[in-house]
Parts: sequence; structure tokens; C-alpha cells
Amino acid sequence: MPISIHNRLCDICQSSTHLVHLPHYSLDEWEMVECLNCQYTFLANPPPYQELETTFAWEKTSQQSTSQRHSSTPIQAVVAQSSKKLRRSLFKRRKIRDLAIAHMPEQPGTIVDIGCMKGDTLIRFCKELRENHFNPTPIGIEISTELAQRADKKLKKIGGRCIHADALSALSSIAPSCSGLVIMSAYLEHEYQALAVLKQVSRVLKSDGIAVIKVPNFASWNRHIMGKRWCGFRYPDHVNYFTPKTLMKLCSQADLQSVRFSWRDRFPTSDNMYAVVAKAP
Ligand SMILES: [Zn+2]
Repeated sequence: MPISIHNRLCDICQSSTHLVHLPHYSLDEWEMVECLNCQYTFLANPPPYQELETTFAWEKTSQQSTSQRHSSTPIQAVVAQSSKKLRRSLFKRRKIRDLAIAHMPEQPGTIVDIGCMKGDTLIRFCKELRENHFNPTPIGIEISTELAQRADKKLKKIGGRCIHADALSALSSIAPSCSGLVIMSAYLEHEYQALAVLKQVSRVLKSDGIAVIKVPNFASWNRHIMGKRWCGFRYPDHVNYFTPKTLMKLCSQADLQSVRFSWRDRFPTSDNMYAVVAKAP
């Protein structure tokens, strides 16, 4: 039986009394709750960080949930995977990069990628910026032991590094106001201290810096149609289930304001949504 953290409060309003259990979205020992005060949905008993380093490391749980979907709904899973591959090849996962380029400052300084995995995306992005005469210093943050070691080796070759730690400890070790860009791609839904992390993001951002966020959209039509079989559910590694409203409420609690979060970035036909935020003045 894995260890879990109980009595998690709502990260937006800090309430413990407005939480209702959602049995239809819970699985085994993993309890999903909704805060009736602010409609934030989250896992009440996420595993602690130590479990994410190895037992529930992303590379393991992601493989498990793909095979589970294949065995429970084989046709839908195959169709979903093929269409994901097609979308990836068409758009080459460029949305994060495009949003960053469009809104980041000319002198980005440090670029932080939280949940950088093997570091490949961060390295590719920094190389592209260097070809265009920018000189960013890349810092990856990764909690999975295996992925962090691989990322650190590669990032060191281009003058960066990977911090192997949870995001809150890692960000606390970074100097204030040094970063023009913080990337949080498919990360914030894994973070049970999301508000505390966003406050740290606000601290490390330069006054003209931005953070780009990609998270699953709990308000997507697909979630309503597929219910519990929605691809955004991952037990226990997805611990927050954001809608556009709850994502923005949480950011504003951390003094981060929206720079871009238009209908194109949170269209309900997509399982994901994208936001660009910056320090509130
Ligand atoms: Zn709440």
C-alpha cells in the first residue's frame, strides 16, 4: 500500500470544509474531491514526493495508463493514440515554443523548465534561441531520479544543469528575478503544492518574464463525454484537475496575471489548455 498525504486543503481558498467526495472519479484508494467554494477538483490523498522519484515516476505511470486504456477500451485507445501521433507530427508540439517566443523578453536570462524529463525539449529550444543570438542559461527541474540524471548530463554540455528535486525545493534554490521564461508543460497537474510553486515561479521571474503553462482541461467536452475514461485521469500522478477558471484563480492567488489565455488556448474540443502568465504589477 503506497503512503499518501491526507487532509489536503483546497489550494485556491484553503478550505477543508467545502470539499465533497467524487466517488465516480475516484479509483481504488485514490480519492477525488471538489471544493464547492471554487469548483477546484483534486486528489485528496496524493502520494508524497519520495514516491514520485521512483515508484510513481512519470515514465512508469504513463506506460501503465496507456496499457490500461488499451485493455479497457481498445478501439478508442488506438484511435486516440493515432490521432495524437498525427497532431504531434502536424504541429510538432510547437505551441509552447511559439507562445514563449511571442511573449518572452529579448534577454531571457535563465530559462527554467519544470518537469523537464530528459531535457530534450529544453535543449532544442535553447539551441534555437542561440542560433538567433540569444544566450539563455537552461535549468531543468525533474523529480524522477532516472530522468534527472539523463537531463543533467545533456544540459551540462550546453552550460546548464538539471536540479533533481521537487519543484518547490528546486525553485527555492534559484535566485530571485533571474528568469525570463518558466516552462510548465504537463507539470502543474502533478503538483500537490501548486499554489506554493506558482508563488516561487513569481519570485524567480524577471519583471518582464513570463511563464507558459500547459495542463489538461477538465472542462473539455471529451471529459464530459468519456467520464472516468477520459485520458486526463491518471491515478495517482495527476493530482489537480484544472478548468480555465480554476487555473486562473490559482495563478492570481500567486500574483500571476494572464498575458494570453484566449479562446484559442482553451478550446473545449481540446483535452489541453495553454496559458501565458506574468508577475502582476
Ligand atoms: Zn476552494
